[in-house]
Amino acid sequence: EHAVDEVTLDDLPLRDDLRGRSPYGAPQLDVPVRLNTNENPYPPPPELVDDVTEAVRAVATELHRYPDRDAVALRDDLAAYLSSSTGVEVGRRQVWAANGSNEVLQQILQAFGGPGRSALGFEPSYSMHPIISAGTRTEWLPAPRRDDFTLDAAEAARIVAERRPDIVFVTSPNNPTGGSIPLPELEAVLEAAPGIVVVDEAYAEFSSQPSALHLLDRYPAKLIVSRTMSKAFAFAGGRLGYLAASAAVVDALQLVRLPYHLSLLTQAAARAALRHADATLASVAKLAAERDRVADALQGLGFRPVPSDANFILFGRFANPGASWKSYVEQGVLIRDTGIEGHLRVTVGTPEENDAFLEASKEVGR
Ligand code: PMP
Repeated sequence: EHAVDEVTLDDLPLRDDLRGRSPYGAPQLDVPVRLNTNENPYPPPPELVDDVTEAVRAVATELHRYPDRDAVALRDDLAAYLSSSTGVEVGRRQVWAANGSNEVLQQILQAFGGPGRSALGFEPSYSMHPIISAGTRTEWLPAPRRDDFTLDAAEAARIVAERRPDIVFVTSPNNPTGGSIPLPELEAVLEAAPGIVVVDEAYAEFSSQPSALHLLDRYPAKLIVSRTMSKAFAFAGGRLGYLAASAAVVDALQLVRLPYHLSLLTQAAARAALRHADATLASVAKLAAERDRVADALQGLGFRPVPSDANFILFGRFANPGASWKSYVEQGVLIRDTGIEGHLRVTVGTPEENDAFLEASKEVGR
């Protein structure tokens, strides 16, 4: 019996507003088929592994020094990628990077949210938006989507105009439902917003809709487009998220970011991975085709898949999603119960993984 083992949360002087809250918790279970966190199922090709290894080896001689605090070279590379992939010219001064887009979002809330301020999102959406809001003591204002999970832009604009949040989150494609918002509808929200609008484009590469970057020039004091290398880029383990916005937004984030937040190793590895963007992103078309195949097959089995523009599919209907989720796990397939009534979410994997998922779907109770 050690005293350190006896202490519980209740014994700690935890902030009152954090008491009773749950941490983000996608289960990490060791099962054969893991389709629960929207990763790219294809491991990095050998050339990329070699290049990352070489790049890390080269900078390892400098590990006694702090890294470039402003990650200039990496931001140049990210700006070049964004410019060429979207056709919207952005430069280093319009790009900022951090350890995953979750950290980017946290910095945005630290700078533009906080006590006495509010953030609004259209639910169901990415669960970290309210969690990061809570962590920064930003009041969370949930707003609804339609019953089919699409965004009613006119209604969204009306709510934003009425509630006047300091920050609006629009996730496009939306996690966990999969649909994207067309730019004219996004503009309606931007017009109504009194403050910042964060378009979370974590899954943009999978989408057929144009990026919100096209609106940056029209809303330079409002729009922030957040991106990540965790999904299409197959770099979830590398932890690299980024954003594009006006240079003034980047200046604002410098006030809250921790110095040297992006390690020397992260910067070098991400730059090496970016050099292989063409090869990595070749998987995007394959995954989009697999997504459509899986959705059709689910439909054929009598499920109702929600139309998806991303690398995952929300599908129903289940009388008891929790019990059905367990039944998938028992068959060696890990998917996600995001808490949406009657539904579960599956990430698109390799064709073999998807087949295993579809086989399990035949057996699962509804
Ligand atoms: N935004 C959305 C919509 C996501 O789904 C995720 C990952 N699940 C993230 C942001 C954060 O990803 P990361 O921190 O790995 O960039």
